Amino acid sequence: MCGIVGYLGKRRVSEVLTGGLTTLEYRGYDSAGVALSDGNTLQIVKKVGRVKELEEKLSSMELIDATYGIAHTRWATNGGVMDENAHPHNVGRVTLVHNGIIENANALKESLSKEYDFQSETDTEVIAALIDKELKAKDPVIAIRDAVKQLTGSFALVIMIDGESNKLYATRKDSPFIIGIGKDEVVMASDIPAILDYTNKYMLLDTYEVAELTAHDVKIYAEDGAIVSKEVKETTYLKEEAGKNGYPHYMLKEMMEEPIVVENLINYYQDKLEKLDLSKYEEIHIVACGSAMYAGMVGKSLLEKYAHIPTTVEVASEYRYQTVLYTRKTLVILISQSGETADTIAAMNKVKEEGIDTLAIVNAEYSTIANEADNVLFIKAGPEIAVATTKAYILQTLVLTMLARETAHNKGLLTDDEYNSLIEDYKEIPRQIKSVLEKRDLYKNLAKEIYKHEDVFFIGRGIDYSMSMEGSLKIKEISYIHSETFQAGELKHGTISLIDEGTPVIAIITDELTKDKTYANVLEVVARGAKVIIATTEKLDNYEELKIVVSTTSEFVQPLLVVPGLQLLAYEIAVLRGCDIDKPKNLAKSVTVE
Ligand code: GLU
Repeated sequence: MCGIVGYLGKRRVSEVLTGGLTTLEYRGYDSAGVALSDGNTLQIVKKVGRVKELEEKLSSMELIDATYGIAHTRWATNGGVMDENAHPHNVGRVTLVHNGIIENANALKESLSKEYDFQSETDTEVIAALIDKELKAKDPVIAIRDAVKQLTGSFALVIMIDGESNKLYATRKDSPFIIGIGKDEVVMASDIPAILDYTNKYMLLDTYEVAELTAHDVKIYAEDGAIVSKEVKETTYLKEEAGKNGYPHYMLKEMMEEPIVVENLINYYQDKLEKLDLSKYEEIHIVACGSAMYAGMVGKSLLEKYAHIPTTVEVASEYRYQTVLYTRKTLVILISQSGETADTIAAMNKVKEEGIDTLAIVNAEYSTIANEADNVLFIKAGPEIAVATTKAYILQTLVLTMLARETAHNKGLLTDDEYNSLIEDYKEIPRQIKSVLEKRDLYKNLAKEIYKHEDVFFIGRGIDYSMSMEGSLKIKEISYIHSETFQAGELKHGTISLIDEGTPVIAIITDELTKDKTYANVLEVVARGAKVIIATTEKLDNYEELKIVVSTTSEFVQPLLVVPGLQLLAYEIAVLRGCDIDKPKNLAKSVTVE
């Protein structure tokens, strides 16, 4: 995780670096730091806490007139959150910032400890020492390559070397990194939004390639030392898209974008429907983490019920170590907003080794998963900055519902009439989501019933259970309330003992088949004092309890209307609890460590 930035050029270097870090802060915010150089002097400033606190520290200091520098906002993996562990790290001639995690750091540290006196607990300092050691006998590009080839794990590195003035070096493996090419300036970062103030042109590095950069020149060396000629890409992201547009939080802004991004995606796939046909597969494994996995659970319900393809949903970090027997024609669907989720990448690599087809559902177009999966369906969410996903989850779910719809139709499991009527349902989604999101007062009032509690329970059956998983995760992530989800019938097999007078229970009831059974479970918890909120459809609604009621539509579409309400409820609860909504504690957005 974490955000890294590097800059060479005429602008005020410290401001470019802290500006970039602020844009990347969603990736980690345990500590922040910069290293500045004017070609002779090196100045390192770092501080536990947010980028704002680093900026305050910098503004109270006398800074050198830097011509280049590097910066980092950390999500700690190795070593506690303290100034000593904050990046940049300096060892000998080397100063660097690192995104990723080095798995063999302890062994390397031990072997280097005779020559180096380590100051931090991080894996990063070990990389700096390794490069410094290699530099004693080799030129920088070769020294960096030979050092990083000894690492197991993931890294994106931007490196300054004493004696190599006005130059930066960079390399990567399994962590995202882009090099933005401006006019007489170069700005590197972990993600596109951080370069947009300077340029929309960028290059990507492949694994173990080393970039040697000045303000006017970018040279990229392949693993064998040969110079590589790189394509310069152009991004269409706009800076305004990455801003808050007047909303108090990115999360709220991103929820409010749901109607338009959903409409755009439905239109986008309208003339690419053949990409959505999975009829040739006998079995599907959906592999993902967190919210993406919960989107996968909705997909599973629909793929099995309507397209008759046995489907399992697997946690990526488990799947990669599981014994998976591929006995039928199998497709593995990998879902990741960033396309850089380390566990999902690891699972993809395992699947590819087995020669199994992979289909990625991804937002970031320049990402590892997008590049390496056999096929990709982009969700086109634009930048999602809030750590807790909202619009990307909705779009992942939307794509999965369309996969089920198209496949079912192609297999003759939906008649033309049923299919055409579904297409009409999809046209209504943007308007229907909008009307869910417009009821801010409803969610504010419901939030008042919940925000003082420390435990919340969600219940639902089947597809309703999948939606409750996501609703519950949202509450945990941003409001720090303990929230658990149960298949409604399962609650009484133990957990109902936790229901007390006033305990909030949120029940999702949209499925005609199970509605009465789930409502019976609602009555069971009411009898034990629970305060119940029911999320349901206009058609099923005859409930007396507190409720969120959404338009009635087909089962394919229903989750896309229910979950936005649950997201907004979580948001309003977090507002009332005064939480840091866009940057919840202990989390970071793209989980690029395993
Ligand atoms: N592993 C490094 C550390 O713990 C970098 C973590 C990150 O990517 O922020 O400092």
